[in-house]
Amino acid sequence: MTAVAKIVHNTPEIEAEPDLTDGFHLVIDALKLNGIETIYGVPGIPITDLGRMAQAEGMRVISFRHEQHAGNAAAIAGFLTQKPGICLTVSAPGFLNGLTALANATTNCFPMILISGSSEREIVDLQQGDYEEMDQLAIAKPLCKAAFRVLHAADIGIGVARAIRAACSGRPGGVYLDLPAKLFAQVMDAEAGRQSLVKVIDPAPAQRPAPEAIARALDVLKSAKRPLIVLGKGAAYAQADEAIRALVETSGIPYVPMSMAKGLLPDTHPLSAGAARSTALKDSDVVLLIGARLNWLLSHGKGKSWGEPGSTKFIQIDIEPREMDSNVEIVAPVVGDIASCVQALLDGMGKGWQQPPSDWIETLKTKRDANIAKMAPKLMSNASPMTFHAALGALRTIVKERPDAILVNEGANTLDLARGIIDMYQPRKRLDVGTWGIMGIGMGFAVAAAVETGKPVLCVEGDSAFGFSGMEVETICRYGLPVCIVVFNNNGIYRGTDTDPTGRDPATTVFVPDSRYDRMMEAFGGVGYHVTTPDELTRAVNEAMNSGRPALVNAVIDPAAGSESGNIGSLNPQSGIKKKK
Ligand code: ADP
Ligand code: MG
Repeated sequence: MTAVAKIVHNTPEIEAEPDLTDGFHLVIDALKLNGIETIYGVPGIPITDLGRMAQAEGMRVISFRHEQHAGNAAAIAGFLTQKPGICLTVSAPGFLNGLTALANATTNCFPMILISGSSEREIVDLQQGDYEEMDQLAIAKPLCKAAFRVLHAADIGIGVARAIRAACSGRPGGVYLDLPAKLFAQVMDAEAGRQSLVKVIDPAPAQRPAPEAIARALDVLKSAKRPLIVLGKGAAYAQADEAIRALVETSGIPYVPMSMAKGLLPDTHPLSAGAARSTALKDSDVVLLIGARLNWLLSHGKGKSWGEPGSTKFIQIDIEPREMDSNVEIVAPVVGDIASCVQALLDGMGKGWQQPPSDWIETLKTKRDANIAKMAPKLMSNASPMTFHAALGALRTIVKERPDAILVNEGANTLDLARGIIDMYQPRKRLDVGTWGIMGIGMGFAVAAAVETGKPVLCVEGDSAFGFSGMEVETICRYGLPVCIVVFNNNGIYRGTDTDPTGRDPATTVFVPDSRYDRMMEAFGGVGYHVTTPDELTRAVNEAMNSGRPALVNAVIDPAAGSESGNIGSLNPQSGIKKKK
């Protein structure tokens, strides 16, 4: 318990009763009581002192240059630790900057709490034009899982507890906590304050599946000739790594990992059908989804990607009952937490379990080996300027040699190709643009990955993607984090070769040609590298990662190498007006 008495100790000029506490300290105490040790944020009115005091009380307070990146850091901290990541912002504009990250966290089912200071309720509600006036609670509500406001210091404990429970229980997500400026200075008796705090017991209670649901799922699975498991980021989040591996290996069913589930089992596992994804989806007859939604990333469970209409039966494990039948019929819904559900399936398989027919396993293996062989020569080219494939071929080897490093990845071609080329070997090591395909997560994710895990971080960034959060290289340098950023510099978005048809301006998709992103890193005391071949790239990244210091490698990529929107060019609307011949 930190009473105001402690501030008195540090700053003797403040005279206060030793047995009082205040809003500032109650917020800090409530977080600490619940095992939350780190705050990501940007200081300013009215939360500057909250950050200072939190630091003085031993919390880690990581200050960013822009709230969106602090928010992204909090969100991915939540994914990595199952504890809500905290983002702390100022009122209106700072709050809005953090809101994108909060909405993204909710969409991705990451637990996070956005705590924003806000202006005076009386003035805001009468719309009398207060400093940074905004009804933040109302604005946050539709964009997150839950939103709360605390008006009285005595309610801070309950407010923080509700926020933690809302973020972590059931399907995790983003929570907004509105703390008006006046709250922080409210003083109350220290003992009463201590009594008002709540330690959240079992914030994400196990949700065990119904035995009938497990029996139904096993019946469907047994009937399969060409079964497939799809592992999603929910499965990675659940930290049920051993049980999931046991389920795959005991059942003998091949699996396809979604992007952030890569490494849950090593991508080189004999049952991985990742490199035969299209065949696996199209030809499977029964699919067991574990923490993966049938959204656009899985073609909504229907259409060409899934073969003949009605040819695939879905079993789905998810903690959110309403996820069932969201896109197509789920013949065997298994509602519950992944750890419990997977264990129940395993127990139900028992000794007499029949592995799937070997021709299905062989089909996928043959396809996988062929795809890998087709890709191999492209990964080995030493041409300059580099192709995406060649540069990623170099990074693929580096990740293989450093399996405990965390890979952060965003971009268009840089993302789509890296996902396929770079094998992952351990759970929760690949962090990327998630459900929305959002650009700008890079530096926020990198900071939190380093802070939360203490592991080295390799960020593989398109030049456009990097631009969204590039200023945070200063943050990385300031905290001396072991982050190596590789910017795939192809002079633009998708490609660097577009031109303005009128000849007036640069094309809408290009950047200053031959930019030197490495010098941004040097500006803040980090190490910059400029490389033009895969060999140089390999040397630079190895040196940077061995040093454990902040580094940025400007990797020159052929400006003509990229394709429009990477793998998802088909989502671009086409003009309905045909050009005259
Ligand atoms: P991906 O994009 O990798 O397919 P999604 O984000 O679409 O993954 O899906 C994750 C799913 O996992 C969500 O539907 C979410 O409700 C579910 N989920 C998250 N955590 C758990 C958990 N502990 N137990 C069960 N389901 C979970
Ligand atoms: Mg580019």
